[in-house]
Amino acid sequence: MLDVKTRVLDNYVGGRWTPALAPAELLDVVNPATGAAIAQVPLSGAADVNAAVEAARAALPKWRAVSTIARAQRLFELRERLAARAEDLARAVTTEMGKTIGDARAEVARMIEMVECACAVPTTMQGRILEDVSRNIDAETIRQPVGVCAAIVPFNFPAMVPFWFLPFAIACGNTFVLKPSEQVPMTQQIAFEELDALGLPPGVVNLVNGGREVVESLLDHPGVDAISFVGSAPVAKLVYERAARAGKRVQALGGAKNHIVVMPDAVIDRTVEGIIGSAFGAAGQRCMAGSVVVTVGEAHERLIGPLTEATRALHVGDGMRDGSDVGPVISCSARDRIAGWIERGVDGGARALVDGRAAAGELDPAGAFLGATILDEVTPEMEIAREEVFGPVLTLIRAASLDDAIEIVNSSAYGNGSSIFTESGAAARRFRHEVQVGMIGVNIGVAAPVAFFPFSGWKDSFFGDLHAHGPDAVEFFTRKKTITSRWFSSGQGSGSYFVEPAGATGQ
Ligand code: NAD
Repeated sequence: MLDVKTRVLDNYVGGRWTPALAPAELLDVVNPATGAAIAQVPLSGAADVNAAVEAARAALPKWRAVSTIARAQRLFELRERLAARAEDLARAVTTEMGKTIGDARAEVARMIEMVECACAVPTTMQGRILEDVSRNIDAETIRQPVGVCAAIVPFNFPAMVPFWFLPFAIACGNTFVLKPSEQVPMTQQIAFEELDALGLPPGVVNLVNGGREVVESLLDHPGVDAISFVGSAPVAKLVYERAARAGKRVQALGGAKNHIVVMPDAVIDRTVEGIIGSAFGAAGQRCMAGSVVVTVGEAHERLIGPLTEATRALHVGDGMRDGSDVGPVISCSARDRIAGWIERGVDGGARALVDGRAAAGELDPAGAFLGATILDEVTPEMEIAREEVFGPVLTLIRAASLDDAIEIVNSSAYGNGSSIFTESGAAARRFRHEVQVGMIGVNIGVAAPVAFFPFSGWKDSFFGDLHAHGPDAVEFFTRKKTITSRWFSSGQGSGSYFVEPAGATGQ
């Protein structure tokens, strides 16, 4: 039951906290470890989007006129402010999303790293120049902001994923509208308190809470120039198509099914550590979670004992408590959906080496708990091996050779991440060369790139051209303009641009 005093979250529009104008509904924000409502989030509508976009458009000339170096300096200040609130941010992540506090702290560190990377904008936003493209004529390409940029983000990284976009967009001179996931809107309230305290010109950053209606209004709004989306693959595809149809620049990051290939020469204890962190960290709710282990040859026999033992030792519980290794999943309906996957997997012929449904039975049913699960004897064509489960469920597939393993990885519709555990440089070289995914780990369980490299999914894991963060962020958040120029009064301006005068090449 919701306490009557429970806070209804505001939007942040034009430099002010403001209630949603006419919300279609107020949704409870629920702590998935306890089932308690901790706030209410408004499902804002088109009028709220319009107000935010108008504020962002109005702020554009003023923000663009701030020097690039001064914009970077504001980000230095933001970095300090977020670092000072890091523990509040991490606790908000755990409270609304469920991941363990250790995982949440690591997420917040990554969020802050995004701001650090964006601080390099006076260097990364530089253009290029070539003197004398024709006699006494110079050509140069400069980068300018795209305009009003909007981001729509998922539930699983309430702190970090919005910051894959926000700091880079504003560093490049754009203004910004964020729509957080309606399931986890609290963390960005704290981030926006710090953005508010920065005293940016009103309208540079805006926050509109809501769901599908807000998304569709942003996609269709003529005042929005660019859309960044992160979420499930079907919605990513819809967003990509609809935004592109409206003539917007768009990047849409989708779901995943990531494979971890284990070679017979892998260092087993470190491999088990890597797999456990990848498959069960954040209760498997990461787009870079390894959810299929493909063992090559005798790797299976070497791995299965230690992996099962380590999985059984994981402690399921409230992410805020010391000693919890696996927190709840996002909601009780997600827990039931994932349990359904396990049931269908077993019915389809998989063997449950560890069944997380039992662990769940021992915990408070109001919490969305499900223990880590391992399904062995899975084959590549089974649904559980192909579809994204997005929970703490790991499937094991056997392959006879590295060739077979690569074929299994490449048969997936998704192409986010894949890792190999081996001590063979030759195997690792072949794997990175042939595997059709955008992010590869070699003896790394979660090969999510740091802020300074692009988050570069392929296939159904990504729709667009330019990826999130790293150098791609500056490409995405700027437009190129090329200028060709000469100056007659310098006395050097003679000659035609298109036709070199006879003898000009010295021949
Ligand atoms: P989701 O697709 O349900 O929601 C993502 C966002 O889209 C939310 O803000 C939501 O309000 C909005 N939305 C949902 N349905 C919509 C619709 N029909 N029309 C318009 N907007 C809609 O995803 P989720 O459950 O919040 O997040 C989990 C998914 O995100 C997983 O599939 C995961 O793999 C993926 N993800 C991908 C990456 C990546 O980098 N590729 C990163 C994190 C999460």
